[in-house]
Amino acid sequence: MSAFRTLDALDPKGKRVLLRVDLNVPMENGKVSDATRIARVAPTILELAGKGGRVILLAHFGRPKGGPDEANSLRPVAAAVAEALGQPVSFATDCLGEVAAAAIAKMQDGDVLLLENTRFHKGEEKNDAAIVEGLAKLGDVYVNDAFSAAHRAHASTEGVAKKLPAYAGRAMQQELDALTKALENPARPLAAIVGGAKVSTKLDLLGNLVRKVDMLIIGGGMANTFLAAQGVKVGKSLCEKDLADTARAILAAAKEAKCEIVLPVDAVVAKEFKAHATSRVVDVGHVGEDEMILDIGPRSVVEVEKLLAVAKTLVWNGPFGAFELQPFDAGTNAVAKTAAALVKAGKLLAVGGGGDTVSALNQAGVADDFTYISTAGGAFLEWLEGKSLPGVEALRA
Ligand code: AMP
Repeated sequence: MSAFRTLDALDPKGKRVLLRVDLNVPMENGKVSDATRIARVAPTILELAGKGGRVILLAHFGRPKGGPDEANSLRPVAAAVAEALGQPVSFATDCLGEVAAAAIAKMQDGDVLLLENTRFHKGEEKNDAAIVEGLAKLGDVYVNDAFSAAHRAHASTEGVAKKLPAYAGRAMQQELDALTKALENPARPLAAIVGGAKVSTKLDLLGNLVRKVDMLIIGGGMANTFLAAQGVKVGKSLCEKDLADTARAILAAAKEAKCEIVLPVDAVVAKEFKAHATSRVVDVGHVGEDEMILDIGPRSVVEVEKLLAVAKTLVWNGPFGAFELQPFDAGTNAVAKTAAALVKAGKLLAVGGGGDTVSALNQAGVADDFTYISTAGGAFLEWLEGKSLPGVEALRA
């Protein structure tokens, strides 16, 4: 049973359903160039419209400076949504007031309407009471299908959810189910892989994970900071030497929480940060002064794979190496493929997400084989940090 109100509890027939979606899609020459986000919310729109709801889409787009501006208009996105749905989508040039009300008044059961960028009103991001009231007047019920915007307490993500009966859409529900199974209520042992560039951007995340997971596998540039904090020479590698005390404190907290910390035992090193730079594999501790660590080595891959073989759940954020540059994507690719094979064999639940992780896992060709890949970016990271997300909290049953 979900702890959140879902569409199972809503009969939308004849109702004006305010549906918050993420339509912040990339555009090229005025056309949507990647419709992944639209595809994710299409099932919710179709379900609500199919059941006779009047579906009013609310979304932000880009970062307008608090006023209408053509470059950040959602108008061109309406056509892409219509294409994904296979039904017409009308458009209103304002998400509030007379313009929105008039467009909504014309709707029939099963119609879909997209309202202009919520961020064209300054008060949206301030969760301003007048904006919340204005939005709430336009709908009978509210559905949030935009997990990626749920870490912000904005009028369209949080304020209005408190004014109207509020439900999680299907994409939101899927995300919450996956995240709950991965970290709140996981099958154990629970392993986390945290890689990426820097410790400094992931302090809260590491602090939360050491308290929750059984094994914390650290890779990427941030592993160098941990190695250096233990006296290991890392040459010219990316390394935050000023965070040595912090790294040691994280290691101590992990010990206290009985969380096993796993650092690389070998590395692929090169003298230049570029694709196909001449490289060699060395044990950690043998990195030359003029060399930098750009990936984990094959022995580390085997160590990680052994741990995954006993783990029941995996949470993954951040690549093991500079995965954008071949061949320094090899460690990330190998571990990703192993994790995907374990998922396919029914032995592991694996959830990945956050920034570059999505591209790294896509590049490894495992995106469809992971249990769930979150494209939510900031919201996914805040969830990994153990923070409560205002837009999600507002949907609790
Ligand atoms: P993040 O956004 O923190 O997950 O970091 C991802 C970035 O970390 C990617 O651009 C990788 O190229 C980079 N990265 C991972 N490992 C290393 C490394 N050993 N040295 C330099 N950059 C790295």
